[in-house]
Amino acid sequence: MTILILEWSNPLNKSCAIHFSCVSQLFIFCSVMLHLSQDVEALRGELCRKDEECREQERRLAALEQQVQERTGVIVQLQQQLEEAAQRRQELQLLRDGEETLSRQAALPLQVKYVTKTVEVESAQSKQALIEAQAHNQALQEQLSVQRQLLRELEQQLHESQRSSSQLRQQILVYEGEMERAQGQLEAEMQSLEEEKNRVIEEAFIRAESEMKAVHENLAGVRMNLLTLQPALRTLTCDYNCLKRQVQDFPYMLEKAITEAKQEICQVIGEVSSANQELLRKYKREMNLRKKCHNELVRLKGNIRVLCRVRPVCAGETDAADTKNKVTFDPDDDAVLYLSNKGKLMTFELDKVFPTQATQEEVFQEVQSLVTSCIDGFNVCIFAYGQTGSGKTYTMEGVPEDPGINQRALRLLFSAVSEKKPDWDYKITVSMVEIYNETLRNLLGDNPNEKLDIKMCPDGSGQLYVPGLTEFTVESVEDINKVFDLGHMNRATACTNLNEHSSRSHALLIVTVAGFNSSTGHRTSGKLNLVDLAGSERITKSGAEGSRLREAQCINKSLSALGDVINALRSKHSHVPFRNSRLTYLLQDSLSGDSKTLMMVQVSPLESNVSESVCSLKFAQRVRSVEIGPSSSSRRQAESSSTSSSPTHDGVEVQRHKHTHPQRLGLFRRKNQSNLRDVGYSLLSNMK
Ligand code: ADP
Ligand code: MG
Repeated sequence: MTILILEWSNPLNKSCAIHFSCVSQLFIFCSVMLHLSQDVEALRGELCRKDEECREQERRLAALEQQVQERTGVIVQLQQQLEEAAQRRQELQLLRDGEETLSRQAALPLQVKYVTKTVEVESAQSKQALIEAQAHNQALQEQLSVQRQLLRELEQQLHESQRSSSQLRQQILVYEGEMERAQGQLEAEMQSLEEEKNRVIEEAFIRAESEMKAVHENLAGVRMNLLTLQPALRTLTCDYNCLKRQVQDFPYMLEKAITEAKQEICQVIGEVSSANQELLRKYKREMNLRKKCHNELVRLKGNIRVLCRVRPVCAGETDAADTKNKVTFDPDDDAVLYLSNKGKLMTFELDKVFPTQATQEEVFQEVQSLVTSCIDGFNVCIFAYGQTGSGKTYTMEGVPEDPGINQRALRLLFSAVSEKKPDWDYKITVSMVEIYNETLRNLLGDNPNEKLDIKMCPDGSGQLYVPGLTEFTVESVEDINKVFDLGHMNRATACTNLNEHSSRSHALLIVTVAGFNSSTGHRTSGKLNLVDLAGSERITKSGAEGSRLREAQCINKSLSALGDVINALRSKHSHVPFRNSRLTYLLQDSLSGDSKTLMMVQVSPLESNVSESVCSLKFAQRVRSVEIGPSSSSRRQAESSSTSSSPTHDGVEVQRHKHTHPQRLGLFRRKNQSNLRDVGYSLLSNMK
């Protein structure tokens, strides 16, 4: 351990020595001494200031003394002048005395004591002498007055000098008094400063001593601490050495850890990518399953569904009260419709009946699952069937403020494909075609009179296509409206009476939805055919002739062909007569295979239309009752198997449910619904 000895002498000339056994004690002592030396320094500064003040006073004193000396010089000069003036006075006095003597002598009468010689008194010589004496006298007189004047001035100066010298003396006395007083003050201040200095030094010394004592005490504590800290220091050193070794090993360990981490990450990435592959595989499987389920659900509902919509009585038509009794609905079963015909109540059962108050939205909700299935690549046909004026165009096209299935379907497709983004990229294209008298017209082409042909694809796929058919890609409602406007315009330009013409021709809106999944590479293509059929009313063949007869034959042919095709498809006949009409030939792709068909049979509520309504409903009934496969609908057919003929448009047959009790039908239907539900659940559990 180091012992430090510090010696110094304080201002009281006391010799001091302190022994320090550790550096920290020395630090504390030094800080105390620093404190003291700062005090002494301050006192020294004060002393210097006082010395400076003393010197200033001395300087002032010297200046005063110099002034006194100067004043003394002036007094000496003045005294010299005074002496000179006195001398002059004496001289003047002498002159005065001479003058007086002269004047006295002049006043005395001339006495001749002795005449030694005879003089001529009034001789010229004496006269001359007298004149000269008088002139001399005159000059002396003048000199005397000048001297007197000078004397007076000198006396005045003397008085002033005496006065100023007495003033100066007084001032000197005042200065001397001030000086004495200042000196006295200075001495007293110096004395008090000296005393204060000594006192401060004394106090500082006492304080230093007491602090030293405290420092000594601290030192003892520190020593104790040091003793306890030494083992801790040893362990710290130990730890430090250990850490040092670890730090030396760190780069190697780090490298090792990085390599291990890399390996782990690679392994995890591999696992994740294989999991991703698995997920992708599952996703594809689920997508297929979903598609199958959807398809199955639609199939269970029947690949060919027949709905009926009864339009309301429009303003200006026959009495509403009368017409209401012709068409009635079952409040418990929305699949049943009653028609009063010639006093008999006919009952028709379809997949769903829309009453007069049904909105466009309600109708669309029933068909929207079919519409979306074309996103999954299915072909769909929706037909509006019925006599002219039954509401086919209203259901399909609607009115601008309340659009029908056509526009709603496209809107739904837009929103459905946008939901599938970004995985799927879809392109929606539309074409508009009219079939009139078995000829095809391109409604979106530049020339609306141009006739189109249906051809087989040369690639051997068996697919049909229409060369020259115009297609527009649509992405928004605005696009749809533009396309519809163009179609309507072209349809109108080719005929004289659009209303009549449109009721004698079929209008087709063909929507193609082509999708591509960039992550799986899947491609889909589905077609949605929205068909506003020509009026189904019968024309008395005998009455019609010429073009009217041809129109009637063509319409009859195509609607019958449609019934035959549907019949053949549902009966799974090996031959389906698609080629029997342009309509079925064009829609061949969309009617066969996995395709889905919906027939919307439009019925007018008017009494005058009852017989046509009966025909339409019978046609619908037949389309619906031709059933194949194990679906619930087939059971329904088995129960009422008396009819199996084709739903030929013209071949109207007696309605087989004519006497069926409505409630019984309702029960039957509910049973089918529960079957549907069961199948749906089983599909769902399969998916899980
Ligand atoms: P079609 O196309 O079968 O000849 P329309 O669709 O032209 O018949 O309908 C004939 C008339 O009945 C039109 O004035 C139409 O607006 C009206 N109409 C048809 N269905 C409805 C309905 N559901 N609600 C209101 N009016 C309808
Ligand atoms: Mg119409």
